[in-house]
Amino acid sequence: MLDPAKFRDLDPGPRVLMGPGPSGVSDRVLRAMSTPCIGYLDPYLFKIMDETQELLRYVYGTANPQTLPVSGTGMAGMEAVLVNLIEPGDKVLVCVNGFFGIRLCEIAQRLGADLVRLDFPWGRAIDPEVVRGKVKEVGPGIVAGVHAETSTGACSDLAGLSQAAKEAGALVLADCVTSLGGIKVGIDENGIDAAYSGSQKCISAPPGLSPVTFGKRALEKMEARKTKIPSFYLDMTILGNYWGAKRMYHHTLPVNLVFAFREALRMVAEEGLEARFARHKLTHRALVAGVEEMGLSMLVPKAERLPMLNAIKIPEGAEDAKVRTALLKGFGLEIGGGLGDLAGKVWRVGIMGEVCNRRNVTLFLAALQSVLTAQGVKVGSGVEAATAVFEGA
Ligand SMILES: *Cc1c(COP(=O)(O)O)cnc(C)c1O
Repeated sequence: MLDPAKFRDLDPGPRVLMGPGPSGVSDRVLRAMSTPCIGYLDPYLFKIMDETQELLRYVYGTANPQTLPVSGTGMAGMEAVLVNLIEPGDKVLVCVNGFFGIRLCEIAQRLGADLVRLDFPWGRAIDPEVVRGKVKEVGPGIVAGVHAETSTGACSDLAGLSQAAKEAGALVLADCVTSLGGIKVGIDENGIDAAYSGSQKCISAPPGLSPVTFGKRALEKMEARKTKIPSFYLDMTILGNYWGAKRMYHHTLPVNLVFAFREALRMVAEEGLEARFARHKLTHRALVAGVEEMGLSMLVPKAERLPMLNAIKIPEGAEDAKVRTALLKGFGLEIGGGLGDLAGKVWRVGIMGEVCNRRNVTLFLAALQSVLTAQGVKVGSGVEAATAVFEGA
């Protein structure tokens, strides 16, 4: 017999989410999510959908009408952008400087693209000059790259990538999953033709929505397709008929996730993009000052670092999993381990959206020192150095 009493109330305990995502979700956003569910054709929902799109255009820095959250996580956005724009045989140049660049290659290949993979060292930015040379050499129709490589903490230059691609008239696709809401994306200013992101990183909404944006040139490429878009669920032309004026049923919108996402975007707008970027930058500077004062070092060279994702080299003698377990058990603090070639070599510390503040950086530095010391790894204190950065601001 099944005993229902064995299934307890949900209670993970207190958590500070300082990994590569999801990031912490504010009470305000959680309350918005518990707004009563309404139908997917309710006129009130249409109003909320329109507002969500308007807020999204602001955060993306675009006037693109085709800007909306796809139902699904960041990977759904990645697939949505690629599946709508790539036809079999299309020459696609993918810049790879980490784990998520490899994912772009994987999906492009599945779609039958004539893939040209351009590799950069993990932990470094994509070099626009190298891209420019490759674009001239192979003449791709599409160039794709990751703005903020969450696997390494490297930040690439979207304007440079875009200019390099445009020299051959190629479309530029950008992964903005980790960058959106934490650093400037500037879709229109940087000439990005299509991009995708996720709800759970610097926007600090629960995971489950993936905002995408398609510009004029991208829509023209879709219109000129000779083959049908191979995914029904991610077909932007049909999806656009639900989010747009026609309001035609495509799938049941995850209504409560949209409520939560809109609330999180509203909070971004209230703070203001510039203030939000400045908060991420300052908090990052304090974190790095603390980490370096402890005697640890960062993976990425200073000029190429992301503020919201910090890859710290694991010091000699420290055991990766044991340290992360102790941080979670002793402090409710979640940080990430390394992906791919960086597994066991770095910790990935996220300061995304809601969790990006002085309190959490101070907690992290003190907790890490405490755990490392207890496990016999000698490190100094980082709190004073971080304090100096915050006080100097
Ligand atoms: C998190 C992430 C993704 C994937 O998003 P999911 O929400 O995990 O599906 C893609 N690209 C980058 C750069 C990411 O950080």
